[in-house]
Amino acid sequence: MTRKLDTHPNGHFLPTIVARNLIGGEEREADSKKRFEARSACDTQDLVGTAPDSGEGDVDAACKAAGVAFSKWSNTPAPVRGEVIGRIGEVLSAHKERLAKVVCREIGKTMKEARGEVQEAIDTAHFFQSEGRRLYGQTVWSEMPNKELFTYRRALGVAAMITAGNFPLAVPSWKILPALLCGNTVVWKPSEDAPVIAYLFARIIEEAGVPAGTINLVHGGRPAGEAILRAVDKGLVQKVSFTGSTNVGRLVGEVCGRNLQIPSLELGGKNPMVVLKDANLDLAVDGALFAGFGTAGQRCTSLANLIVDKSVATELKKKLLARVEAIKIGNPTQSEGMLYGPLIGERFYDRFMEHYAMARADGAKLITSKEGRITKENMGERFIGDPSNGLYVWPAIWDGVKIGMKIAQTEVFGPTINILEVDGFDEALATANGTPYGLSSSIYTNDPQAMLKFKTGIRAGMSSINNSTSGAEAHLPFGGTGWSGNGTRESGVWVLDAYTRWHAVNVDLAGKLQLAQIDVDFGQTREATDLSVLG
Ligand code: NAD
Repeated sequence: MTRKLDTHPNGHFLPTIVARNLIGGEEREADSKKRFEARSACDTQDLVGTAPDSGEGDVDAACKAAGVAFSKWSNTPAPVRGEVIGRIGEVLSAHKERLAKVVCREIGKTMKEARGEVQEAIDTAHFFQSEGRRLYGQTVWSEMPNKELFTYRRALGVAAMITAGNFPLAVPSWKILPALLCGNTVVWKPSEDAPVIAYLFARIIEEAGVPAGTINLVHGGRPAGEAILRAVDKGLVQKVSFTGSTNVGRLVGEVCGRNLQIPSLELGGKNPMVVLKDANLDLAVDGALFAGFGTAGQRCTSLANLIVDKSVATELKKKLLARVEAIKIGNPTQSEGMLYGPLIGERFYDRFMEHYAMARADGAKLITSKEGRITKENMGERFIGDPSNGLYVWPAIWDGVKIGMKIAQTEVFGPTINILEVDGFDEALATANGTPYGLSSSIYTNDPQAMLKFKTGIRAGMSSINNSTSGAEAHLPFGGTGWSGNGTRESGVWVLDAYTRWHAVNVDLAGKLQLAQIDVDFGQTREATDLSVLG
């Protein structure tokens, strides 16, 4: 049996999807009855969907429904919860191409990257399916006889997720799937940039067999996010997991801090890539191209500062510029041949347009040939499709950048990189560590000593050696330090600590009160052997 999606005809585009909130197992409109539009980043004539514009009442109802569902779900055996997570992975696999098309249409990722995005959620589901058969605690020796000690992972309660739109399926899966596996119930406020893929994912989760109220979805923008934070103050939420900008992350941290909760904060980046003089420059150029311009630079792990040994800087710039000037850009719903598509929305476009003045104010020099928005008049051979109805921009490379400049310190979140020339490894490492962020990082070298010194000296959550700054795998910890996050991690076994608390239990079968430290018999020592004869 299948359940139909509610859709409207949408001209020559695929139908418009009517997304709804999901609260306590029911599809609902917002209390306000208002809806917002999700227009395709590729072509704003395409109305991908509409979604409820939720407020405090909707958020509170979702949190309360999740609170009611908690007892049943947290008492469901972990292997059974794992089986449900596995089914989510199977449905995602079965519809991988369709879901990738929604990601492509909604936020403008190329199909290649959109398929990768869905695959990341599938990998995450499969990883956490098997974790349901582990979710280990420990058996620990006691100091006392006839007494045993145990540790258990306990679910936290209602876990609220607030997510960004640039990874609208993969990143939410990193949060929601382990949170559910650990026995928490979830309230998810997805990005207003990508409500349709969020709605489809929430339905898939529910249909995989979680009890009503275990997954709740509340659409909306900033007001809905702020209502989630107020729900923390009201005691309706026990855990917040946030992915987004550093500024909003600070707000989340403040609210959770005063409620004595530890939020998961996955924030912005200003990621460095170091190229030493012995590096394979062609490999480094491949990495810089993908990390700097893929997804139009709208990844938290995008390359920002390309730090190059001055002895190879001229050659690297020549090679990189030649490749960047040949990049194909275009509408990814129409072809697969481009490196990147549009910017996701107007606030990213505005920030990108502002970055030109920021860079020039400090004396950086634009070495790419075109700048600003791509239009029909200036698109030339390099644009595939019609740029009129999307926010498509030219790639930028800035030369002569120094680490103290504002452009080297500020996350732009668009297709732009800075070139910083340095003299030798030590200056390269200091420059790479020269921003307050610490998400991803990379070095290109064939010198094992430099690899080791970079691994131990770089201040970042993730580092690549002879690979780009972007990319993640479902079983490795993902996260940053400094302005990039508060040290919590997503993915792999490490994320289990974010969604459980440790519970220590002792069982005493001695039949009398035994006190640790006080009633302990550590045994008698005997007279020591005299070793002085050995000289
Ligand atoms: P954003 O912080 O503006 O929005 C993220 C989410 O927070 C959205 O759902 C939004 O509605 C909500 N929100 C906005 N203001 C809020 C408030 N005052 N209170 C509560 N919720 C609020 O981020 P963005 O600009 O949409 O996304 C881009 C940023 O996300 C970049 O900085 C990027 O580096 C970062 N990001 C980080 C990671 C990571 O894993 N570290 C991954 C993806 C994106």
